[in-house]
Amino acid sequence: LASEESRSTATPMMEQYIEIKANNPDSLLFYRMGDFYELFFQDAVEAARALGITLTKRGQHMGQEIPMCGVPVHAADDYLQKLIAKGYRVAVCEQVEDPAEAKKRGSKSVVRRDVVRLVTPGTITEDKLLSPAESNYLMALARIRSGSEPAYALAWIDISTGVFRLAETAESRLLADILRVEPRELILPDTVFHDPELRAVFDVLGRVAVPQPAVFFDSATAENRIARYYGVKTLDGFGSFSRAELAAASAAISYVEKTQIAERPPLGIPERESVASTLFIDPATRANLELVKTLSGSRDGSLLKALDRTVTSGGARLLAERLMSPLTDPERINARLDSLEILVDQPSFAIDLRDALRRAPDMPRSLSRLALGRGGPRDLSAIQAGLRAAAAISRLLLRAELPAELGQAQEAITALPSELLAHLDAMLAEELPLLKRDGGFLREGANAELDEMRALRDRSRRVIAGLQLRYSEETSVKSLKIKHNNVLGYFIEVTAGNAGALIDTDAARARFIHRQTMANAMRFTTTELAELETKIANAADRALAIEIEAFEAMTREVVAHAETIKAAALALATIDVSAGLAVLAEEQGYVRPVVDQSRMFTIAGGRHPVVEQALRLQAANPFVANGCDLSPPAGEEAGAIWLLTGPNMGGKSTFLRQNALIAIMAQMGSFVPAAAAHIGVVDRLFSRVGASDDLARGRSTFMVEMVETAAILNQATDRSLVILDEIGRGTATFDGLSIAWAAVEHLHEANRCRGLFATHFHELTVLSEKLGRLSNATMRVKEWDGDVIFLHEVGPGAADRSYGIQVARLAGLPASVVTRARDVLAKLEDADRKNPASELIDDLPLFQVAIRREEVRAPGSSKLEETLRALNPDDMTPREALEALYALKKEV
Ligand code: ADP
Repeated sequence: LASEESRSTATPMMEQYIEIKANNPDSLLFYRMGDFYELFFQDAVEAARALGITLTKRGQHMGQEIPMCGVPVHAADDYLQKLIAKGYRVAVCEQVEDPAEAKKRGSKSVVRRDVVRLVTPGTITEDKLLSPAESNYLMALARIRSGSEPAYALAWIDISTGVFRLAETAESRLLADILRVEPRELILPDTVFHDPELRAVFDVLGRVAVPQPAVFFDSATAENRIARYYGVKTLDGFGSFSRAELAAASAAISYVEKTQIAERPPLGIPERESVASTLFIDPATRANLELVKTLSGSRDGSLLKALDRTVTSGGARLLAERLMSPLTDPERINARLDSLEILVDQPSFAIDLRDALRRAPDMPRSLSRLALGRGGPRDLSAIQAGLRAAAAISRLLLRAELPAELGQAQEAITALPSELLAHLDAMLAEELPLLKRDGGFLREGANAELDEMRALRDRSRRVIAGLQLRYSEETSVKSLKIKHNNVLGYFIEVTAGNAGALIDTDAARARFIHRQTMANAMRFTTTELAELETKIANAADRALAIEIEAFEAMTREVVAHAETIKAAALALATIDVSAGLAVLAEEQGYVRPVVDQSRMFTIAGGRHPVVEQALRLQAANPFVANGCDLSPPAGEEAGAIWLLTGPNMGGKSTFLRQNALIAIMAQMGSFVPAAAAHIGVVDRLFSRVGASDDLARGRSTFMVEMVETAAILNQATDRSLVILDEIGRGTATFDGLSIAWAAVEHLHEANRCRGLFATHFHELTVLSEKLGRLSNATMRVKEWDGDVIFLHEVGPGAADRSYGIQVARLAGLPASVVTRARDVLAKLEDADRKNPASELIDDLPLFQVAIRREEVRAPGSSKLEETLRALNPDDMTPREALEALYALKKEV
């Protein structure tokens, strides 16, 4: 497109377009022409399709018609939103000089244009483009190769709120750490993007992952680049960072600069998150547990939806973040629980706080827009309302003795400058226009000159009304009117039939200057009217200039307090989250969990938070509470494993998930759906529940299950919680049973984690005889008249049968098939009287920890290997080779 040839044959405007487009090859170019953004060539074709707008043509280029489409500037946000949602990136190109300037250079000159901003999913700030309850993160991934293992780090920024965080990560947990933050856009060096080892990671992320040139991630210049952004000499005051962290942070900042071009959003100081401080949840588990969205992608039905009682967008975002990244430090968890407890104990305190919070708008996002020069009067009033709500809340907080976290929140809120609120109150009107260029947002009394201009304008309007009366008397045309439109400004209008009075005499002609003849009216002006009009226009111009000036001054004043406002907004969000969770706890009957460093996991009367609420909504039978005890048995250090059997539909999956969710809720600092709970912090949570089909990626269900199981057996520690549902189901019975058997042994002996293992293989229940920390539990059912009734009750022991046929009958399998299945089952059971598993348990030696993966992998120097190494096949006769083979065989 940008070849010399194409440029030389293009019109000057096209030439300019082609040049700008060539610099922005991976974005759709919105090229400003008057009141429209126009798109050309392939951009036009794609945008027209994506937006469902008409594709037209404009002129020719190299003998071909140029496809074109356009969107009106005033509605551009809507179109941008659609394009961003579809994964496009947009370069917004504006006219950067007055067209009159261009004319001065010559008639052929085109107005200078420049890209003023790249709109990408991770760098948006407009309310319309953002979802209020979700953070909008741009994330950068950096990799540093030094030594044997490459170092990885992530940096993530929400420019709509200024949040900036950093963490180190590793290849094995890359995807989990990325998904924890759910970035809208992930930038990474193209070398990493194309690394075959990491393909699976970026496959999952799809369009979110955007490769960038490797220089972006240069760690040598990183520190300087970051320091320059913050206008500081060194980063010493920010803390110490690894090279990978610096590279990631500087890449993220550079990308913000690249997309925002001239503007610099106010970013907080990068905060380091240690990976050990958050509960590691692997990607499959995160998806399967439906934390923030269900497997089908909806928010309804997720845990977040069930827990969210926040009343502000900032609170909703903070709650989501806490849920995505539960903590592992009991002290921090308990600090959050302390905040909840005081609010649970004083319900009226929580209610009052929430009432005040409801009036607090989204300050951080308004602040960002103001700082980026994209703010409007309503952003100022959002800050004003936020400050006012904060003042009310700070008074409310005096009512109680506050625990640490709320105490800090109170400090942040009281630090807000009261003079800023006073100033905004004194300046801003009650009803505000959307755009500053419309004016009218300063209140009366805000500015003396403005009041004068407005009075002049109003007075002039009255003078005009007087003029109209006078003219109509003088001309005896009763219907004479003075009107206004944007083309003519003020004019006198009479019907065609009455026009004679204004044009027939010389005197009249000298007075009334003809402007326009319409089908049945004529329009005139007079020197008097024209003078008055100029006065009005000047007054209006001056008034607007005063307002804009005041707007800029207020914006500067607000932005000068950016840090304080952001800190206070976070404090308000914290209060909102605590009060929301307190209200939820009260409403749903949750209790405060005991959280400490132990290996305990004792839950009495636990419930599934989402299913419980759903059942209540449907006015169905209430949820049946079930306890769970995975605490170390007396005299043991490691936690316990429960082997759970029971028929399909008995409630196994629900029970498994509910315990995982209770752990997550406790560690995010929430009360939990139980009668009592004691949880020693979990460092990693793994689950293999339900069939998360991955067929699209060419893996069978069984393969996926095994990959996930492998990850669990390799990574779970003695602090972890592992939830496994029906391992080994996707293959032949004996294969499956063997795999499940070995997996349970490995969890018990090698991982030594706490775990819940649901299975159909009743044979496994004999393992509890050999494995000291393994106990059997079962979902109780009642048989009644050949039918099965699910009690959803967990009890000790093993299920005696599967009830598969009964369940099939409930599902509506034809009666003849059910009867026949019963016959077949009876025959099979007859033939299978001796339980092979009970023999297994006697014959098989207990799973040996010695064959743990680490040891298997460790470079061994067994005798066999040594002998093998000593052999040199090239030097051997066939006979010697055969002898060597016999010798080797003897050694195994
Ligand atoms: P399984 O995994 O054993 O096949 P599920 O956990 O899928 O069973 O549960 C089957 C159904 O029973 C679900 O629809 C669920 O709503 C209901 N259910 C499960 N546990 C309970 C419970 N404790 N109380 C009430 N209903 C439950």
